[in-house]
Amino acid sequence: QEPHHQMMIRARIPGGIVTPEAYLVFDELSDRYGQGSLRITTRQTFQWHGVLKGNLKKTIRSINEQLVTTLGGCGDQVRNIILCPAPLNTPFRRELENVLKSLADALSAKTPAYHEIWLDGQRVDVGADEAGAEIYGTSQPVSAGAEVADPVEPLYGQTYLPRKFKVALAIEGDNCVDVYTNDLGLVAHGTKEHLEGFTVLVGGGMGRTASRPDTYPRLATPLGFVTPDQIIPLARAVVSVQRDYGNRSDRKQARLKYLLDNRGLEWFRHEVEQRLGWELLPARPLHWKNTNDHLGWHDQGDGRGWLGIFIPSGRIRDTGSFRMKTALREIVSRYRPGIRLTPEQNLLLTGLDPGVRTEISKVLHQFGVPLAEELPPVQRLAMSCVALPTCGLAVAESERALPGLLEKLQQTLAEVGLADEPLSVRMTGCPNGCARPYVGDIGLVGRSPGRYDIWVGGDSVGTRLASLYETLVPYEELVNVLRPLLVAFQRHRRPGERFGDFCTRVGLQHLREIAKTSETS
Ligand code: SF4
Repeated sequence: QEPHHQMMIRARIPGGIVTPEAYLVFDELSDRYGQGSLRITTRQTFQWHGVLKGNLKKTIRSINEQLVTTLGGCGDQVRNIILCPAPLNTPFRRELENVLKSLADALSAKTPAYHEIWLDGQRVDVGADEAGAEIYGTSQPVSAGAEVADPVEPLYGQTYLPRKFKVALAIEGDNCVDVYTNDLGLVAHGTKEHLEGFTVLVGGGMGRTASRPDTYPRLATPLGFVTPDQIIPLARAVVSVQRDYGNRSDRKQARLKYLLDNRGLEWFRHEVEQRLGWELLPARPLHWKNTNDHLGWHDQGDGRGWLGIFIPSGRIRDTGSFRMKTALREIVSRYRPGIRLTPEQNLLLTGLDPGVRTEISKVLHQFGVPLAEELPPVQRLAMSCVALPTCGLAVAESERALPGLLEKLQQTLAEVGLADEPLSVRMTGCPNGCARPYVGDIGLVGRSPGRYDIWVGGDSVGTRLASLYETLVPYEELVNVLRPLLVAFQRHRRPGERFGDFCTRVGLQHLREIAKTSETS
C-alpha cells in the first residue's frame, strides 16, 4: 500500500489581493484537507501544509474555483508577482494594479497540462477553439530572434527557466516589497494621478549555499527606465535572456544574479535592447523613505479605511487563547472586507467603513489578537521562514524557534534601554534566505541543527546587505552574542541611527572587539 504522502500547496495570488469569498474557502480548505493553518508567505500568497496526496486534486480544484491558480506558485518560472499592498484608491494605484494583472498574465505559463492534470482531466488543444484561446492566451514570442517557438509556451518553451524567477513592483519611497531582492524589480514613479513609468532593477536574490563560496546574496542593479506601455515587452525580454543564457548545468549558479555578474551589466542591457528593438532610457535615481509595514488603521482616500493585522510568521491558526484564525473568519464573514497579503507575511483588511473600527478591534481582542500598535517593535518587524518540520531544505528551526528568541531579545532590549527600538530580526532555517535575512538589521540563518550564522548591518530601507558577524552560534546563545552589540549601540549611536546603520558605520572588526571587551570586563 502506498504511504500517506503529505504535500504543500502554494497559490499564485498577484499582489496578494484576495476576495472575502476566496478567503473563507481557503480557511475552510486548511481545516478540511490541510493541517488547520493557513500560511502567508513573503511573496504575498498562501500555502497549505500537510495536504494528503489523495486530496491534492480536490484542494487545487477548490482553489481554482475561487479564480486563483496554483500554477506559478512554485517551479522554474516567474513566481507570484508582488506589489506594495497599500490599498490607496488613487488613479496611480489603479494603473499600477492594472500593470500587475497584465504582467502576471504575460509572464505566466500557458500549459494546458495544468488544467488536464488538476482540474477537469480533459486534454485541451491550445488554440483549437475560442474557449481554449481565451483560457491559455495567445501571447507572441518575445522577439523574432528568440529561439523559442513553442506555440504552447511562447515565453518558456519546452524547458522553462533555469531556476525560479522573482518579480516585484515597488512604489518609489516605500520599499516594503524589498524590491532589490528580486530577479526583476520595477519601481513605479508618478504622482497620485498618473503613473509615469518604472525604474528597472535586475539581478537581486537572497539564496546562497553555505558550502559554496561562489553563491551569495545580491541586491538588484539599475538597468534603465521604461514607460507603462513598455513594461510587458521589457519584462518578457529580461526573462527570455535568463531563459536563453542562465546556467542550466549547475542549479546553485542558475539565478539571474550569476548570469549578470558573469557576463556584465552592459552585455545584459545589450541583449535586452536587441530583443526589444529599442534602447532603454537611463534609470532614475531612487529615493527611499521607509519600508512601511502598513499595519494598523489607515485612510484609503475614498472614505473607507484599512486595518493591517500582524500575523506571527504569517501563520493563521488558533493556538490556546490566541485565536487568530477564528477572529479573521468572524470579521471576514461579518464585514466582507477585501484582503491583501503583505510581503512581511501580514494581512490587511481593506475597504472598511470607518464606523466598524471599534467593533473590529473588539472582535480581535475577544479572540486574543493584539492590534499592531500594542506590539513591541521588535515583534512587529520580525519575520521567519517555515523551516522545520515542513520545508525539505531546512537544517534548523525558524518559525517554531522565533517566538522564544524574540521573548528573550525583547527582555534584553528592555534591560539595555532599547525597548522601543525598531529592530528587524529575520530568521531562516537554511541559507536560502526565504525570509530575506540578508537585508534585515539582524539576520539569523540556520546552518546546522540548533546553530545559526548571525548577520548584521542591513538598513531600514532594504538597500544594503548585512555582513556575516558570527557563525554557527547555538540557538540558546544568540541573544547573549548580540547583547554587547546592543549595549554599544545604545551608548554610541548617533541621533536617530538604526542598529544596522550603527553596525555598518562601526565595522565588523570593531564590533568584535566591543564584544570581546564586554566578555572580559
Ligand atoms: Fe526557505 Fe530554507 Fe527556510 Fe526552507 S528552510 S523556507 S528553503 S529559508
